[in-house]
Formats: sequence, C-alpha cells, structure tokens
Amino acid sequence: MTITVGLVGNPNVGKTSLFNKLVGARQYVANWPGVTVSRVEGATVHKGYTLHFVDLPGVYTLSATSIDEKVTRDYLFFSPPNVVVVVIDSMSPEQGIYLLLEALELNLNVIAVFNAVDELRKAGTVVDKSVLETFLGIPVVLTSAHTGEGIEELMDKIIQVFKGGDRPKVFPYPEHVEEELKKIETSIPKGLVQRFCALKVIEGDRFIRDLVGDIDLDSRKEIYSTLATDIAKARYSFATDLISKAYRS
Ligand code: GDP
Ligand code: MG
Ligand code: MG
Repeated sequence: MTITVGLVGNPNVGKTSLFNKLVGARQYVANWPGVTVSRVEGATVHKGYTLHFVDLPGVYTLSATSIDEKVTRDYLFFSPPNVVVVVIDSMSPEQGIYLLLEALELNLNVIAVFNAVDELRKAGTVVDKSVLETFLGIPVVLTSAHTGEGIEELMDKIIQVFKGGDRPKVFPYPEHVEEELKKIETSIPKGLVQRFCALKVIEGDRFIRDLVGDIDLDSRKEIYSTLATDIAKARYSFATDLISKAYRS
C-alpha cells in the first residue's frame, strides 16, 4: 500500500532537510509539467506502507501569484496527496500557521510539523504540543531534521491519519466573511472544494476565479479587497493567540 505525502511550508523551514532524513538517497528529481521548477520525490517503507514523499516548492500562501505558488497549490488542489504535511519553523511559527490555516481549507488529511525543536530547546523555549493539537484540531509532530527527533513519530502519524481519515474542522472567519463565502460557493462548480475556492476568489487568485461561474468580479472588487484583509487578519490573530497559548520561555 502506497501513501502519497506532500511536504508543504514556507521557504527555509526545513522541508528538504526533513525529506532527506525521511527518504535518504531514495529520491529523484524531475520537473513539474510545463515549468522549470524541480519536482523532488522519494519513498521509504515504514511498517509495511510505502510512504511516497513530494518535496513541494516553498510558499507563503496557497493563493497562486508566483510560479512556485502555482505549482504547490495546483498539486494540492488538482492531484491531492493522501496526506499533507505542513512544515512550520518552530522558532518563528506565525507565517507557517497562516499557511496551515489555508491548507486546512483543502479538506485533506493534514499533519502539522513544528521543526527545528533542537534550536527551540537551545533558546530555552518550551512548546506544548497538546495545546497546539487542541486548537488546530489535527495531529502535531515536533521534529528536528538535524537530530532526527520526531521522524519516526511523523511516519507513524502519516499512516494513522491515512487510515483514520478525520478531516480537519472548519476554521471560522468573521460572520460578514462567512456570509460572502456562502454566496460565492453557489457559483463554484461541484466537485471542487467550494469553500477553498470561495476564499481564493476573495483573495484575488485569478486561476481560481477563471473556474468560477456567474460572479460579477468587477463590481465586487472593493468589497473583496476589504474581505481579503479581514481574512488575513483572522488568520494572523489566530496564529498569535495560538502561539501565546502554546509557547513558554
Ligand atoms: P527548506 O527551504 O524548507 O527546504 O529548508 P531546508 O531544508 O533547506 O533548511 C533550511 C535551513 O534550516 C538549512 O540551513 C538547514 O540546515 C536548517 N534546518 C533545517 N531543519 C533544521 C532543524 O531541525 N534544526 C536546525 N537547527 N536547523 C534546521
Ligand atoms: Mg530552501
Ligand atoms: Mg527545500
């Protein structure tokens, strides 16, 4: 049985280091179709399962405005892996949590990895994993790609969420945003993840906008721009709040 796993995260959070720890030399490089962005994949066998990892280009958002963002977003959206691992720099987790909240909207199996906990310890900081799990509603693994801490646990968790298949709960936006999301969702073709698409329409992703039906985008421009700011604020305020609850120095 093969489980495909996408490694997603901001640039420089340790995705490739973790990938190397996970698959060792059993990796190969190709190109993503149509673009000169490398596609790095590799597999390892764990407890009878083949875990097939894809090391995705680093991104700050799943709204596609750059080629790297489009490669990562399109992979997650159009050929979703069985499990998405969002890698977050535990030393400065805010932007990673922001990205994680976007990834949760894809309605896939998601695991959050807080990496570089070796550095965190050196700095004398403690992070409470169970607080993270409670407020994120998904499994969390603390890892160090340098010491190998958490790697075995990550592989165990990948198999568990694959078998368990509990989808993340919905992150609630302010009421006026939710109302607009519901309206937009009625114009999203069935078969697509409607809530994710509706968010991306508001956030100005033109590739997703092209998939959408009868919305008069021009007349909605200003309201969407305000709502996009409110969405970003909601994600950042959740991240800040979560960090203050889970971190102690
Ligand atoms: P990527 O851009 O997300 O693929 O990140 P890389 O794997 O290239 O790592 C970026 C930098 O962080 C490199 O200098 C790594 O050596 C370092 N790094 C990655 N993981 C860890 C870790 O767990 N602990 C520490 N201390 N450094 C790490
Ligand atoms: Mg890098
Ligand atoms: Mg990398």
